[in-house]
Amino acid sequence: MRPIQMVDLKQQYAKIKQGVDAGIQEVLDNAAFINGKAVTDFTAGLTKYLGAKHVIPCANGTDALQIAMMALKLQPGDEVITPSFTYIATVEVVALLKLKPVFVEVDPKTFCIDPAAIEKAITPKTKAIVPVHLYGQSADMEAIMEIASRHGLYVIEDTAQAIGSAVKFKDGTVKKAGTIGTIGATSFFPSKNLGCYGDGGAIFTNDDALASQMKMIANHGQSKRYYHEVVGCNSRLDSIQAAVLNVKLPLLDTYIAARQAAADYYDKAFANHPKITTPARASYSDHVFHQYTLLLEGVDRDGLNQYLADKGIPSMIYYPVPAHRQQMFEAFGGSSYILETTDWLTERVISLPMHTELDEEQLLFITSNVLEFINKHS
Ligand SMILES: *Cc1c(COP(=O)(O)O)cnc(C)c1O
Repeated sequence: MRPIQMVDLKQQYAKIKQGVDAGIQEVLDNAAFINGKAVTDFTAGLTKYLGAKHVIPCANGTDALQIAMMALKLQPGDEVITPSFTYIATVEVVALLKLKPVFVEVDPKTFCIDPAAIEKAITPKTKAIVPVHLYGQSADMEAIMEIASRHGLYVIEDTAQAIGSAVKFKDGTVKKAGTIGTIGATSFFPSKNLGCYGDGGAIFTNDDALASQMKMIANHGQSKRYYHEVVGCNSRLDSIQAAVLNVKLPLLDTYIAARQAAADYYDKAFANHPKITTPARASYSDHVFHQYTLLLEGVDRDGLNQYLADKGIPSMIYYPVPAHRQQMFEAFGGSSYILETTDWLTERVISLPMHTELDEEQLLFITSNVLEFINKHS
């Protein structure tokens, strides 16, 4: 059996080596390292794939969120509603820009921000909502957009974990995650569903004015060289990363299908187990399984993690401390929040290996060891 990785990028690269190597070589030969043809091609390709009006590549997913919030001209003290149950980047940029993060609960089934909790957290200072499509499952965007339009709020979708997911609306419309809100932000960090071989990110919008604003912000606040209109930053996707992404973008749907097939295998193996809840798949979207995350009840989770590690099976806790309990947010009254669902989930989740290269032998080995531990030791 091949060694089991949380994410097997070596095996995936072996299958696309020729295209990737040739793409990188072309960048080297042309020495167009910044804003080269590879970047232009990738931007056009992703725009088409997402059906978005504008895609602006940038240096990473954290910058993508930051540029989005800068373009919306949010002012210090403005409130931004976000889940606490997320990767820190989502919330970190809110604080970095001197905005006030307002943490709300997630839905215990989808792990995504709870629309009812958003509604309750809205105050006259609220300016934006940042839903996170966690683990590859989209948040309930139809409900969120309805709340946002009723209260005149911006919506910035953090789609770093859900690129390629399709969201279905009640009227039959289908849109890709990240293209529904005012702005969508994603990451091409190597382990993401569409990952490059370094850092990368992108912002999407259907709004022409916001698009030019974000392009300008990502480029030192200039639209004409050496004439700087606003304070911006330096955030670029480099050509070598774009060359890698140009090989992987056409494979994204195949990669998603491989993740979904692994998830189906896991689901079957753990079905109806009294101590295991498998990931819910919301009716309004397809789950693209950036992570496959179980919810355990009455199981020694750390014991399971160690037991699996001893057998050569990695597992991870995403995330061991929710944002509102991080020291970083003490100044924002983090520990005064009461988020019972978030705390409850934090103590019970465990993510199993999930990537495009898992085979049946590996999946059988993983699932039988998980079940062996849970059935014998707890
Ligand atoms: C990865 C990730 C980010 C940040 O992306 P980087 O490219 O690492 O900066 C933001 N939000 C979520 C939910 C993520 O998973």
